[in-house]
Amino acid sequence: MPHFSDVAITLRRLDFSETSQVLVLFARAAGKVRVIAKGVKRGTRKRYATGIDLLEMGHLIFTERQERQANLATLVEWKQITAFSGLRNDLKRLYGAQYVAETTAALTEDRDPHECLFDALAEALHALEAAPNMLPAVVEYQVRLLTEIGLYPELGRCLECGRAWKRRPGWFLSSHRGGLICRDCESVMVEKRRLRDGTVELLTGLTARKTPSSAQPPHWIGGFDVLDYHITHLMGRPPATSPYVVSESARRTLR
Ligand SMILES: [Zn+2]
Repeated sequence: MPHFSDVAITLRRLDFSETSQVLVLFARAAGKVRVIAKGVKRGTRKRYATGIDLLEMGHLIFTERQERQANLATLVEWKQITAFSGLRNDLKRLYGAQYVAETTAALTEDRDPHECLFDALAEALHALEAAPNMLPAVVEYQVRLLTEIGLYPELGRCLECGRAWKRRPGWFLSSHRGGLICRDCESVMVEKRRLRDGTVELLTGLTARKTPSSAQPPHWIGGFDVLDYHITHLMGRPPATSPYVVSESARRTLR
């Protein structure tokens, strides 16, 4: 049986039996992999084993069954690199990290490698560990995730009439169309989200890896709101962790 060696971050975990876990891992070279970790919760006389936690990064070795039964690989070895401990003493940061993990798990395919996205995920979790305010790190990751999977919205022009974006009120985002809709075209679109002032400038800056100096807390909420709206459409449901990142009432005040 071939053995694979990789670096991975745990995106989801569920207890499989008294001693085993099934983990959804995002591996740097292999992409998203589902593994069964047999006996991982079995303690020794010296050590109480709790298994592998959510949002850990480690070196792993796994084997693939020939028939790829149930798409489940077998974890042979896991050596923790970091547990991102800074996330675990601050609930807000942990929620931000859980959002990042949930959306990555939902929007990537099994065994579709995304090395740049793996690096972005590791950077986001490190940034969240230390961040006084977690929202900028989450919004930056939303931008990286959507860019890497090729579904970042078009923010340069109206996708109905082609008019170039200009700073003025009345722009919308249509997730189905994949980008901006101007105020002359929006009335015929049912599915759309109004963009707040400063949102396009913020997101355009972030795609160039620059944070505009004008970015204020409401701009980050506006950026999160519209990208989360787009992500919700792509996932077919809202991420369960969204309301813990930005409350529905904070989002409503922007609309
Ligand atoms: Zn238009």
